[in-house]
Amino acid sequence: MVEQQLRRRGISDERVLRAMEQVPRELFVPEDERRRAYRDGALRIGEGQTISQPWIVAAMTALLELEPGDRALEIGTGSGYAAAVLSLCCREVVTIERHPSLADHAREVLAQIGRDNVEVRAGDGSRGAPDRAPFDGISVTATAHERPPQLLLEQLAPGGVLVCPVRTNAGERLTRYRAGGGMEPLVEVRFVPLVEDADGGD
Ligand code: SAH
Repeated sequence: MVEQQLRRRGISDERVLRAMEQVPRELFVPEDERRRAYRDGALRIGEGQTISQPWIVAAMTALLELEPGDRALEIGTGSGYAAAVLSLCCREVVTIERHPSLADHAREVLAQIGRDNVEVRAGDGSRGAPDRAPFDGISVTATAHERPPQLLLEQLAPGGVLVCPVRTNAGERLTRYRAGGGMEPLVEVRFVPLVEDADGGD
């Protein structure tokens, strides 16, 4: 996977490649999908959600430009796989998932593989984690409409980076935002939508 799907397709950040090598992806997919765990695509994980293709996880992690002492926030824990990869590239990770069953499962698998620097929360991640902000990197793994939630941009540390798939008239693109302004639309992608819960509670 690392050689064929990642290195050959332009992922060169050695820390990210090592993290991708270390995390047992098969533990994050349902048992009946395990033999397909390392294939070059997304897989279903329950609740109508998916675990992203390995290349996307690696690309999004590399785009955050994390340093070992940094803190990261992920919105859309899903299986917990991307959170595990992130947790090997920085000091600590907070990850938020709106489906409590997925959050519970991700928490269990992360504990099982000994990732003790990840906090999994259940709730609407579009409000971020103000009690733990600011973050050096924020990865949104569900598609926002037009722009990422303002509350997330506000939780970036100076010099911080937010990566989010964004849908506009021009289609759906992974987009990188920098604290204080600056946005770069990057590759075309397909994610599930970021659902902003309207009830006001987590
Ligand atoms: N990063 C995941 C893949 C995420 S799929 C992995 O590595 O497996 C996108 C996830 O975002 C889904 O699980 C979906 O339930 C979640 N999601 C969508 N909107 C959300 C929101 N507002 N807050 C938290 N999670 C959300």
